[in-house]
Amino acid sequence: MNPIQFRKNVLRGSQHDPRNSLKLTPYDTEVRYDPLTGRSSRICHFSSSTRLPKNFEQLVESTQKHCPFCPERILRETPRFDESLLPEGRLRLGEAVLFPNLNPYDELSAVIVPCRAHYFPANELPVKIVVDGIRLARDFLALLECKREGVHYGSFYWNYLPPSGGSQIHPHMHVLYSTAAPNLLRERLAAEKQYFKKYHRTYQQDLCMSEEEQGERWVGSTGTIHWHTPFAPTGLLGDLMATFPKKKRLTELNDEDITEFAHALRAAMQAFSSTNLWSFNLAFYPQATGIETDEHYLTAHLVPRLYIAPGLHSADVSFMQLLLDEKFATVYPEQVAQQIKSVFKEQGLLNS
Ligand SMILES: [Zn+2]
Repeated sequence: MNPIQFRKNVLRGSQHDPRNSLKLTPYDTEVRYDPLTGRSSRICHFSSSTRLPKNFEQLVESTQKHCPFCPERILRETPRFDESLLPEGRLRLGEAVLFPNLNPYDELSAVIVPCRAHYFPANELPVKIVVDGIRLARDFLALLECKREGVHYGSFYWNYLPPSGGSQIHPHMHVLYSTAAPNLLRERLAAEKQYFKKYHRTYQQDLCMSEEEQGERWVGSTGTIHWHTPFAPTGLLGDLMATFPKKKRLTELNDEDITEFAHALRAAMQAFSSTNLWSFNLAFYPQATGIETDEHYLTAHLVPRLYIAPGLHSADVSFMQLLLDEKFATVYPEQVAQQIKSVFKEQGLLNS
């Protein structure tokens, strides 16, 4: 028996709504619980705009003049690693360049600039630059795994454009190799460990089986990767999760896995951008180095980001997410899954 449970409470309220001639109008708020961590997140209903701010084109143009990641400045304005770690100071692959983060998050904190171009709309990111960026991250993490002893969490993160917290227009990715797992990763790994101890099964495998069986949030499989929208959502306009069965860390991905992932990621961004979404966060959740049990499968989490009022540049994160750690969405994950599935199908990405 698959022990995964999808729990939710529907809270019904009502108000005299001016959008309905001030008639008493009911509304529902759903509180959903993540089947692994038990953390709640909500489905609420309010409208937000996903359009680009009016001055966005000017912003792209003006930032290009001083961009530290553009080809004419990158080697002069970005740091190099100590020779004892990396004799060449920086790593390169195709157009991609990896170097230390001038504003590091950790002892080993790198930035990857995957392309020479200053700007691409999120739904037009060339697959090759995503592939080369992730391959370079993987190769750097593999090198660190050989050079550094002790338990580390090595991963890849991406903030794309300002609503996501990205501080440069020019595409850039992050690689962290840390002895300290961030909260959510630590919590997920601990819960998966408990699950494995109790049921002798991999949580993420059971989750994918449940999702595929239920079907409502199941997008499908592309090559060896599974895709679904999480039951308890994270982003205001939904999110998407990829599972890499039997892989624990990014260093276990081969070029084919990364290429498959990049094609599907682009299709997912195209699906999200049909509602004008233009910014995102992406994180991979790895197992720690040195742990070889099957309790964890590598996953990747994509969350579209937006300004809820573009004219005011209003963030889509407020007291609820930041101070109460309660995520919420204004769309149902079941609808988002169908939207993404239709684009995956159109592009012939889904396994038959
Ligand atoms: Zn640039």
